[in-house]
Formats: sequence, structure tokens, C-alpha cells
Amino acid sequence: MALNIPPTDRKRIVVVGGGFAGITLARNLSRRLFQVVLIDRNNYHQFQPLLYQVATSSIKPGDIAFPFRKIFRHRRNVHFRMAEVTGVLPRERTVETTAGSLAYDYLVLATGSVTNFYGMEGVEAGAFPMKDLTDALAIRNQILLSLEKASLALGEAERRPLFNVVVVGGGLSGVELVGALAEMKRYILPKDYPDLPVDQMNIMLVEGSDRLLPTMHPDISARAERLLGRMGVRVILNTQVTDYRAGRVIFKDGSFIPSRNLVWTSGVRVEPIEGIDERRIGPGGRIQVDRFNRVAGYSRIFAVGDAAMARTDDHPKGYPQVAREAIEEARHLVRNLEAHARGEGITGYTYHEYPTMAAIGRNKAFVQFKRFRMGGFMAWLAWAVVHIAFVLGVQNKLSIFIGWAWNYLTYDQPNRIIVRTQASRRPRPSRDTLREALTDWKQPSA
Ligand SMILES: Cc1cc2nc3c(=O)[nH]c(=O)nc-3n(C[C@H](O)[C@H](O)[C@H](O)COP(=O)(O)OP(=O)(O)OC[C@H]3O[C@@H](n4cnc5c(N)ncnc54)[C@H](O)[C@@H]3O)c2cc1C
Repeated sequence: MALNIPPTDRKRIVVVGGGFAGITLARNLSRRLFQVVLIDRNNYHQFQPLLYQVATSSIKPGDIAFPFRKIFRHRRNVHFRMAEVTGVLPRERTVETTAGSLAYDYLVLATGSVTNFYGMEGVEAGAFPMKDLTDALAIRNQILLSLEKASLALGEAERRPLFNVVVVGGGLSGVELVGALAEMKRYILPKDYPDLPVDQMNIMLVEGSDRLLPTMHPDISARAERLLGRMGVRVILNTQVTDYRAGRVIFKDGSFIPSRNLVWTSGVRVEPIEGIDERRIGPGGRIQVDRFNRVAGYSRIFAVGDAAMARTDDHPKGYPQVAREAIEEARHLVRNLEAHARGEGITGYTYHEYPTMAAIGRNKAFVQFKRFRMGGFMAWLAWAVVHIAFVLGVQNKLSIFIGWAWNYLTYDQPNRIIVRTQASRRPRPSRDTLREALTDWKQPSA
């Protein structure tokens, strides 16, 4: 198989990964100077900050997914190919993919990160990660399926594991997810399941450190914890999950919680790409780069976004793995690649801090920017405006806005549909088929 890329007399830049960093590169690299080949294992870009809203039925999956072919419809110098990159041959300047190999002049690795289960096989097999659209839909399916099973259950003991939702990881994703789940429990479920005691549903947030939102100010952490407590979420700090077996979430001290709904948002790692010198791989699998985002030891290979790690005195653990950072690194690399192609000098990347935002249900959010901190309705408005602004496509922005307005006014979320495709089923116990789902509930899972 070949990738069928037309020959060119321009320099060819192969970009691996069409996340925030990858599409910023492909959209901005000069048409005159470069042929750009974008390779991604999916045929769409996704807006990960709103995945939790798909998982909780607030918005439609299509609202935060954008087909690459549509994004690059008018950019004739960009060629998209759906394939998985499996390795690099730096000497041959070739990238290897599941659809064949391709020569490059410059290679940019923008492969992002994947969920880190820290080697816990039971957790990896049974927990739901929340890293992409498929994961978000799987969480939505699981929670709705658990409620359907609970409505068939004969008693409290059978219902308990179905009613316990355990989210691990008190960072942005975990906090936002449990906030949305708490609102779903309060406003939606009593209407949908009038014959179920949904007030007995337990939403728990487990965090290994001593506070939520560790990247934000401790004041915000404390306020978020109080707020979630008022919303009925049980926050469990200083607690580590060590295993997930037989429907039990098992903690380091041996205690456990029976739950069929374990969501894992704690930690990420970068998947290795064969051919990149192992000595260039840092903690969490991140690829070590210099201040030009060049992979150490290679003159034509770059890495940006979550996959990259530039260590500086101010940031010995690398820059934060967030969307805005990925975009800014990519923008800077565009300027450098173009300057280099024109024979001009290139400049080192300078880190800038950007606002951090966390929304916890309707009207409530926290915003932090350097010493400035804000919470409440105005912060929620700022959060909403910024998120809509960063979503691609007018149609998607409009659809999200209308969805939010509808939810806001009616306290309803219209996307509570269990959609299961053959392809989305994975051999893991909690992603069982509907038939299994409706029969295995009688077996004790705790
Ligand atoms: C649930 C969640 C919530 C988040 N919330 C926020 C937030 O509120 N604010 C914020 O700033 N950040 C947030 N982030 C982090 C942010 O999404 C990431 O920092 C950002 O997506 C990194 O961009 P990237 O381009 O480096 O990688 P990604 O956006 O992850 O893109 C990587 C791309 O590479 C592709 N890919 C990977 N490997 C291969 C391969 N071998 N071959 C082909 N294609 C490949 C993937 O399919 C993907 O499209 C959140 C992340 C998650 C998961």
C-alpha cells in the first residue's frame, strides 16, 4: 500500500496527529513553501475539553468532531491520510504507517497523549478512560446502561454497584465530569426514572493527592471541593486506587467500592514511536525537544503539544499538557519552518502562561490567570465564551450554543441515547453487549 501523495518540488512536511497542534500546523504552513501531509488514525479532529459533556449527554458527539477533509477542503497544499504511524526511519527520512511509508523533508510529531493506567491491568481492562470521542460515548453508554439495569434490579444489593459511579482523578477532567453527573442526577434522572430511587446514586471523585485541581490555586481547590460536596459528590482525597476486579474498585489500604462505572481520568503518557532514540524519551514517554521544538539529536524531526517535553529551569517537568500550549508551540514552529525555508534565522520558543478554567455545573466555574482568580457566574460565562470560541466551525459553535441554551432553560439534555456499534465494542467486561448487559446483572458483582 502507498499513501498516494503527489510528487512536489516544494518541501514536504509530514505532520503526525491532527489534534490542536497538528491542525494548527497544517492550517498555517505556507502553501507556497510547503506540501503538508497530515496523518491521523481518525478522520476527524476533536475538541477534548468538552468530552465530558458528550459523556453526560449534554452535547452531541458531532458538535466537537470536525472531519479533516472538511477543514482542509480549500487548502490544496494539505493532503490528509487516515493511517496510524508506526515508526520513523530518520536516516532514510521516511515515516512508516499502516498504509505504507512516505518520505519527508521535515517530520512533526504531534501525537498527543493517551491515558496512563500506570501498569494496573485490572483498571485498564475494566475502567473507562476519557481521552477521545469513542471513550466519551462509551462512558455515556455505560452510565445509561447501568441505569437501565438498575431499573431491572430486584433490590438494593443488586442496584448498588450500578448506582456507584467512581471517577478517579481530581484534575480538570474529573472535576468537570462529576459536576455534570451531579446535575444529571439532580435534574434529569428523577424525570427519566421515576420508579428508581436515584437519590441513592453515589457519585464519587477519588484523588491521590490532598486537593482537587492541583494545577490551580489551593483556594480554588478548596472551593471546588465544597461546591462538589454541596452538589452531592463524595470527594475522596489522599486515596489511591490499586486495582479493579470483579466489579470492585480496590484501594491501597485494601478497602473497596463495588461499582460497574469506573472512569479513569488520572494521568497521561505518550505512546512510543519506533525509530526515535530511547535516550530522547523523557518521563511519561514525552519526547524531549530543544527550544526550537526539535527532537534532541535530530535536525529534521520536531515534536509539539502533549507529546513534546521542553525542559527549562522554570519548567523542569516540561510545559503543561494543555490545548493552548499545543497551539502556541505549533504556531511558533510554523514561523520557524517558514523562516528557515526563506533562509532567515529561527527563534527559540518562549512560554507564556494562559488562563486555566474549570466549569462545575451550570453557573459555576473557576478561572485563574497568574494572580487573578475568579469564581461563580462571571467565570462560567467566561468559560462558555472561550470554549465556544475555540471550537472549530460556525455550525458546531451554533449547535453547542443552542444545546447549552436548551439545557439551561429546560433542565434537559436530549442526547441520552445508548448507541453501540460493532466497532466500538472492546473486549472489556464493562463494555459488554446489550444481551450480556441485560442478563449478567443478576450475578453478584461485589
Ligand atoms: C477530557 C479532557 C479534557 C481536557 N480539558 C482541557 C481544557 O479544559 N483545557 C485545556 O487547555 N486542555 C484540556 N485538555 C488537554 C488538551 O486536550 C490537550 O493538551 C491537547 O489536546 C493536546 O493537543 P495535541 O495536539 O498535542 O494532541 P491531541 O489533541 O491529543 O491530538 C493528537 C492526535 O494524534 C493522533 N495520533 C496519535 N498517535 C497517532 C499515530 N501513531 N498515528 C496517527 N495518528 C496518531 C490522534 O488521533 C489525535 O488526533 C483536556 C484533555 C482531555 C482528554
